This record gives sequence, structure tokens and C-alpha cells, in this order.
Amino acid sequence: MGRFDGRVAVITGAARGIGFGTAQRFASEGASVAILDLDESAASEAAERLELADGAKAIGVGCDVSNSTAAGEAVERVVSELGGIHILVNNAGITRDNLLFKMTEDDWDLVMNVHLKGAFNMTKAAQKHFVEQKYGKILNLSSVNALGARGQANYSAAKMGIQGFTRTLGIELGPYGINANAVAPGFIATEMTDATAARLKIDVDDFRKMNADANPVRRVGYPEDIAAAAAFLCSDEASYITGQTLYVDGGAKLG
Ligand code: NAP
Repeated sequence: MGRFDGRVAVITGAARGIGFGTAQRFASEGASVAILDLDESAASEAAERLELADGAKAIGVGCDVSNSTAAGEAVERVVSELGGIHILVNNAGITRDNLLFKMTEDDWDLVMNVHLKGAFNMTKAAQKHFVEQKYGKILNLSSVNALGARGQANYSAAKMGIQGFTRTLGIELGPYGINANAVAPGFIATEMTDATAARLKIDVDDFRKMNADANPVRRVGYPEDIAAAAAFLCSDEASYITGQTLYVDGGAKLG
């Protein structure tokens, strides 16, 4: 018996990184999983790599979450191919870092469109199924950098926006049996943080070590750390928790 037997989970930006780790965790606990990502072939290859429970299925769907039509079509395709939707993880994300005086309007718009509008588009498409069936779990990806980070005016604003969005979903959707929460990861070893190392011209291993040394628990995080929190928050054990943001960061911002 897995916690997600008979459930269908949709995870955006899940061809790699935190999204893929979360998809694998849901699959290992019995869920059928739809991996959404920009590139359908990358999404399908990731879906094929998942280790599924007996009777569970996985599909890959190409979808740019910042496009409302694409988001709506992706949700309908999942419902028709996997037989429903019970869990939505809004994970797709990008960075376009720069100091404010160098940040372009495009850098701002792109980050807002993927993180904030993407979460809005996907949630709007999923909630009508959730409300009809009086059941749904929404998990949004925020970040410790919601609290402020040099060179990330766009990303910090989007990630704090996600927290306000999550609280509002908690208020509006709670009466329909729907829980909405967020996780705010600290430094997680993925291609996103590897790209930051490259931009700062620091070797990836040195960058990880630097971040581990500065963290109270003296290590970096891994996708599995976020996946474990995601699985709890999307499980029925967490049905009295909604509108919350859980920092999963090894205590990085404690002081
Ligand atoms: P990642 O390795 O860069 O993976 C992000 C995935 O999202 C990629 O597969 C990317 O596809 C996809 N994506 C980008 N734009 C998309 C769009 N418009 N529609 C659909 N998919 C899209 O990132 P990650 O580190 O796993 O991060 C996952 C989430 O956690 C993000 O929201 C991120 O902001 C958040 N987070 C990460 C960290 C960290 O330290 N890694 C910390 C805090 C929060 P392409 O490869 O085709 O671009």
C-alpha cells in the first residue's frame, strides 16, 4: 500500500532536477505520474525512467506552463490518458539573474511568466477537476531567495509572490477539499545551481562545497530532500495543513 495508490500527480518542469526527483518519489509511493516539460521528448524520456508501482502509468507531456492554452490542454490530456488528476506540483522554473540596473524588461517578464503566471495557469486548469471531485493537492515551489537575494530581484519577487498565491489558494479552495502549500528549498544540487556556478565562474564542486560549508547542517540539499517534503504535504496525512510555506534549506536563513 502506497500513500498515492490510485492517484494521478502532475509535475511541471519535471524532466530533471527537483521535479524529476519528486516525480520518482510519488511514483515510488504508487502514483501515476505526468511529467510536463518544455520539450516533449525530454519529458517522455524522463517518464520512461520512472520506476512505477504495479498498475501505475507515466506519461511525458510537452507544455510551456506560461501559455494558458498549453497549460489547459496539458491538464485535459493528463485527465484523458491517466484517468484523472489529484495532485499538481508547480515546479517549472528558470533564472535570469542580474543586478537591478542591468536587468532587462525581458529578464523580468520571463521569470514572472514561468513562475507566477505558470503556476496560475496550471492551477486554474487543475482546480476545476479538483473542485468537481472535492479533492486535490497543490504544491508550489518557492525558494529561500523569496527572502531576498542579490542579483535576483525578478526571482525573489516571483518566489515571494508564490507564497501569497499559495495562501490565497488555501483560503479559496479549502472548502472544496483542496490543500495548497509551498516548499521553499535552499541550495539544491541541480542544473539550475550548476548554471549559477558557471555564471559566477566557479567550479561546480567548489560552489557546492562553499554552500555546504555555509549551511548549518553542513551539506547541500538534493532533489530527494524536496521530494520527501512534497510527498508529505501532498499526502492525506497533511490534510489539516494549508496555505503554508515549508522552508527545506538545512536552516540556511536562520541567521
Ligand atoms: P532545473 O534543473 O533548471 O529544472 C527546471 C525544469 O523546468 C527544466 O526541465 C526546464 O526545462 C523546465 N522549464 C523551464 N521553463 C519551463 C516552462 N515555461 N514550462 C515548462 N517547463 C519549464 O531546476 P531545479 O533546480 O530542479 O528547480 C525546480 C524548481 O525549484 C524551480 O521552480 C526553482 O526555482 C525551484 N528552486 C530550486 C532551487 C535550487 O537550488 N535548485 C532552490 C530553490 C527553489 P528546460 O530545460 O527545457 O529549460
